[in-house]
Amino acid sequence: MGKPRLAVFKFASCDGCQLSLLDAEDQLLSVADALEIVYFPEATSRMEAGPYDISLIEGSITTPHDATRIQQIRRDSRFLMTIGACATSGGIQALRNGADSAEFMRSVYATPGYIEVLEHSTPIADHVAVDFELRGCPINQYQLIEVIQSLLAGRTPRTPGHSVCLD
Ligand code: SF4
Repeated sequence: MGKPRLAVFKFASCDGCQLSLLDAEDQLLSVADALEIVYFPEATSRMEAGPYDISLIEGSITTPHDATRIQQIRRDSRFLMTIGACATSGGIQALRNGADSAEFMRSVYATPGYIEVLEHSTPIADHVAVDFELRGCPINQYQLIEVIQSLLAGRTPRTPGHSVCLD
């Protein structure tokens, strides 16, 4: 049997959570032998088709294309995990949810008719079943590696219920 296949997908986001994963080089080495990263455009040229054993999703759903794409990713993924505030709650781009998006586009773009956008920015869990949510902006790289290690070991991840220190 081959190694578990890991994929990293981006939706509307600043890329900061993916960068947290890239910054976790030393920690990544601890799991590098146990899995195969088969889709991670931010970091590698590998963009293999599914199925995937673990999919990490950064970003929120903001366009009709996003809404279609996440459905396919869900079908392709055994374990789907959202990483960061954009993916788990809609992110800073959800601040527009209470405003008139069309008016924003008219004031920013010369030809807003070319832009296809949903009325709201929504979390991934509004669209598909999510197996695990890792919160933070950006995520904590140690918590991310802990979740991946726990999946590989078949145990429950030891992550806090909140990502902000309340001490
Ligand atoms: Fe960037 Fe924060 Fe969104 Fe992560 S959660 S992609 S750091 S804005």
